[in-house]
Amino acid sequence: TLCCAARIMDRGGEWFASMGSRDSTGTKLLSVSGDCEHPGVYELPYGITVKKLLDMVGAPDAQAVQVGGPSGRCLAPKDFGRSISFEDVPTGGSVIVIGPERDLLEVVRQFTEFFVEESCGWCVPCRAGTTVLLKLLEKILDGRGDRSDLAKLEGLGKTIKTMSRCGLGQTAANPILTTLNGFPDLYEARIKPEEYVPAFDFKKALEVGCEAAGRNLELEGIHV
Ligand code: SF4
Repeated sequence: TLCCAARIMDRGGEWFASMGSRDSTGTKLLSVSGDCEHPGVYELPYGITVKKLLDMVGAPDAQAVQVGGPSGRCLAPKDFGRSISFEDVPTGGSVIVIGPERDLLEVVRQFTEFFVEESCGWCVPCRAGTTVLLKLLEKILDGRGDRSDLAKLEGLGKTIKTMSRCGLGQTAANPILTTLNGFPDLYEARIKPEEYVPAFDFKKALEVGCEAAGRNLELEGIHV
């Protein structure tokens, strides 16, 4: 901001406003990291499309782009024509490129874990909600989730967003909500076709117990 102010004083407001888009004049510093050939800090005019930025940083085959850090939004390829600007895709400056080889839902899991760690615990939707979100997501990633878990993820995510006290809680569900919206196929591919799968795997727990106790239920004629 100080750099911009100095240059505006030097060259005038009209010069600065001649760059950028109609509602977002001037330039923006974008910190680009992740799966790209040329990570770095770029000063670019507002209004640049995500696609143009990806070509510039050497990531034409990106799977997704996380704009605004974990609290921001995850853009799918269908959104790469959108522009970095206040009126379309606003950002504090962080742009993380997610390449085609990366497990995007694992990235989402790590972001969600970050919010669980960072929640100060003052209000229930954020304190308890983020933990339940993480458990639901891990259930799905473990291949034990079903369709009802996807609905729970979305419903709980929206509740946390609207009921949390501060910005951290209000944005904690963004990684899940924006990828549910932009990448539904990734979630669909990880859930089981059955309608209901209990979170607690009774058979597996019983096997562990039997092994510890040295028992064989089949030999004992007990069928579970
Ligand atoms: S929303 Fe803010 S105040 Fe509430 S628990 Fe989370 S970090 Fe604390």
